[in-house]
Amino acid sequence: MKNMKRRKHSESDHCPNCGALETIEHVLQCPAVSQEDEMSVQLHDFSEFLASTTSVNIKESIIKLVRYFRYKEVITFDPDVPQGIIDIAYKQADLGQSALYGGFWLKGWQLQQKEYNTRFKIRHSAKTWLVQVISKLQDTLFNLWLTRNRNLHHNEESNFSAEEHIRLNQEINDIFTRIPHSRLLSLDGRRFFNAKKEILLKRKRRAKSKWVREANIILERYEREQTNQSRSFISYFAPD
Ligand SMILES: [Zn+2]
Repeated sequence: MKNMKRRKHSESDHCPNCGALETIEHVLQCPAVSQEDEMSVQLHDFSEFLASTTSVNIKESIIKLVRYFRYKEVITFDPDVPQGIIDIAYKQADLGQSALYGGFWLKGWQLQQKEYNTRFKIRHSAKTWLVQVISKLQDTLFNLWLTRNRNLHHNEESNFSAEEHIRLNQEINDIFTRIPHSRLLSLDGRRFFNAKKEILLKRKRRAKSKWVREANIILERYEREQTNQSRSFISYFAPD
């Protein structure tokens, strides 16, 4: 039952966090609290990486792009930002979110980084830097996906648990209608069925399940004895 559910869920094309139609675009934009928490951690790490490897202007424009796609924040620049960087940022925004996360970056970024490297006599290549930037963004997507999967699993666990309680409560109610008069029960049986139904219904899943199992054993034994007694009664009075 659990596995069927899991299959059903993973075939569903709706986000397990917010119910929206789920695409890769959505995984990057899902507003659920857990996804937002993960995104802010990722964004923080990414900013730190950029701060230590590129200029403030390049860093800021890349962060603006990420925020533009996630939060629909309009991209604006201070007047002192070089026009070259502004142009690339707007062109990159036009290419869309999947280009940004899929590694389709404009050549201009590499040229801007090359300028920065030359100015600060950094020996790493601009291309290597861009590859790192892209792989950081892909890590971000991957981590958001992992968070989404953890939630999926968690939601299934709690749904399963709620269903189990409903089923066990029904069984407990059924059992209470089957309990014979205490005089007809053994001493153990009498003690066992002394339990208050209201208290049982509030217990944990495992405790309910254990009680139901034991109750069924006692009731089946009683019911079997009843059948045997009525059989011998019938055979006594009507031997043929
Ligand atoms: Zn969502």
